[in-house]
Amino acid sequence: MKHVIVVGAGPAGSSTAVGALRAGADVTIIDRKTNVGIPVQCGEAIGKTGPGVAEIDIPEESIRAPLRGFRLFSPGQISVDYATKEPSGFTIDRRIFDKELFARATEAGADSLLGARVLDITQENGTVTGVVVRHDGKRKTLKAEVVIGADGVNSQIARLTGLRKSYKPDDIDSCFGYEMANCDLEVTDLMEFLLGSEISPRGYIWIFPKGEGRANVGIGIGGGVETKTAKEYLDHFLKHHDVAKRQLSNAKVIETRVGALPVCGPNKTNVVDGALLVGDAAGQVHPITGGGMGYAMVCGSIAGRVAAKCAQNESVKTSDLQQYEKEWRKLYGAEFDQSLKLRELILQTEDKTLDKLANIVTGESIVQMTAGKKVKIFMRAMATKDGKLIALMRELRKLRMV
Ligand SMILES: Cc1cc2nc3c(=O)[nH]c(=O)nc-3n(C[C@H](O)[C@H](O)[C@H](O)COP(=O)(O)OP(=O)(O)OC[C@H]3O[C@@H](n4cnc5c(N)ncnc54)[C@H](O)[C@@H]3O)c2cc1C
Repeated sequence: MKHVIVVGAGPAGSSTAVGALRAGADVTIIDRKTNVGIPVQCGEAIGKTGPGVAEIDIPEESIRAPLRGFRLFSPGQISVDYATKEPSGFTIDRRIFDKELFARATEAGADSLLGARVLDITQENGTVTGVVVRHDGKRKTLKAEVVIGADGVNSQIARLTGLRKSYKPDDIDSCFGYEMANCDLEVTDLMEFLLGSEISPRGYIWIFPKGEGRANVGIGIGGGVETKTAKEYLDHFLKHHDVAKRQLSNAKVIETRVGALPVCGPNKTNVVDGALLVGDAAGQVHPITGGGMGYAMVCGSIAGRVAAKCAQNESVKTSDLQQYEKEWRKLYGAEFDQSLKLRELILQTEDKTLDKLANIVTGESIVQMTAGKKVKIFMRAMATKDGKLIALMRELRKLRMV
């Protein structure tokens, strides 16, 4: 049987492994961690569905609280809700989530090598043929028809294959968060996002309800522009911001989370001869929300299936593995393109103008906004005669958002 190596046992790696096993390959998952899913570096919110995917197969055991959408606070604290009637997602326990996805892969037949750090790749005539790991203090070489890099934001496989050598500072958000108990949340089934260059430059603060008075409270800030650390910004928010004072003044920190997020969209390509990338390694993270788990799972199962088929056909050239790129971009390519444009637009927009926009939108149901409502909002913006707001609305119109 043909062999596929998956580097990384996060949501991308475990989903990739299942996809490859179902398509008939032998699979080994390698992770440098000895316990997958720990430490948690996540806000733990995930949608139930995705484009072309009726239901994302979220492990039930990991679900903590249903979510119906989000409440967005503009810099001047004007709130706009985007909520469905029925839950459209959940907060989960990421420890259990990662472990259950990994268990699915091993129960389906994957071999695993935990506590093994991938140091290098092997190549023959320019084709990737395996990986070199350090495990139990020894260097070992493992061979495979296809190597899949599901090794996260700082992917070694991306670097070693040349698919992504480095990031520019503003390609990455640095994140810091707390899990808090004793929260007095105003809404327990909406995620809250807070924008503003003062509280979170080139990023946002999030409050995600986790049920039973708990919440994940975190911040992501753009690299290269910050004058304080993400932790300092978040601590300042918790002490001084009205939204935090109302909801979190009695809250206690029960866990701390640190991490980084690629917010620059997917890599130009994620395949080379004998290898491909998936999940954060591929940049499959929403450039505005920073969500990546759903993409990792859906793209992972495509990556695994395509890799297994190519391995079986003994044709693992870039042109063969390209089928993976074709399939996942068909699902998500347009969404990433639009989100990147919208992100740039939000980043260029002054706080004052965001407040004016929130004032115009607030009170409208913005779920599945009808054409009539879009026109109404657009006309309200025109009536303000505010040049910057009108320019913003024109750009939003080009993106078909109003
Ligand atoms: C603070 C924060 C909050 C977030 N909040 C959310 C959220 O609310 N919702 C959401 O959907 N997404 C969120 N994300 C993003 C989400 O966590 C990622 O998109 C998701 O984990 C990607 O999964 P992955 O499998 O690609 O990578 P990862 O989960 O990072 O897994 C990569 C795995 O590869 C292993 N690895 C790395 N290098 C090597 C090596 N050299 N050798 C062996 N193993 C290696 C690692 O140990 C790890 O287990 C957040 C991220 C951060 C940092």
